[in-house]
Amino acid sequence: MKTIFDQSVIERTIRRLSYEIIEKNKDLSLLTFLGIPTRGVTLAKRIQKNIEQIEGVLIPVEILNVSGYRDDDKKTEEKNLPDTNLDNRVCILVDDVLFTGRTVRAAMDAIIDLGRPSKVHLVVLVDRGHREFPIHANYVGKNLPTSILEKVYVHFMEDDGIEDVVLG
Ligand code: 5GP
Ligand code: MG
Repeated sequence: MKTIFDQSVIERTIRRLSYEIIEKNKDLSLLTFLGIPTRGVTLAKRIQKNIEQIEGVLIPVEILNVSGYRDDDKKTEEKNLPDTNLDNRVCILVDDVLFTGRTVRAAMDAIIDLGRPSKVHLVVLVDRGHREFPIHANYVGKNLPTSILEKVYVHFMEDDGIEDVVLG
């Protein structure tokens, strides 16, 4: 096990991601965060809080459960979408780790069922490589080259009672 981020580095990285989102989006009132459970939602709420403190704008956070949209054996039958319309919104998908890209691909199908956003961007805390779809994150906390057998463990205080990113 190797510690990649400790708590203070996680906080600093999320603050940097928050500033990048502010910098790239002139009209923050158009934004909607779509957090992928579980820790994508936690990350989205952290960024939401930072941006509220920095800019005084509260960007909505929706929970996007994509399990009904997957193309692999983790697919479930139920489609459990938030009650929101994404027409003309600038959607920012938020997840903790980006790996094959299949979750994000599924998320894009779910988004299309909620309207026609003007733009969809992606923020991840860790990009561990090994993409199987042509998907790229717009905002990345850390690019972390991994072997296919390794796993990235992301712990947030809200979900885990400890906070770090560990490679094992
Ligand atoms: P993908 O669909 O890109 O293969 O995997 C991304 C999804 O699976 C994300 O929701 C992410 O939370 C989870 N995931 C994939 N690999 C890892 C990993 O190494 N560590 C953690 N914490 N999550 C992963
Ligand atoms: Mg996840």
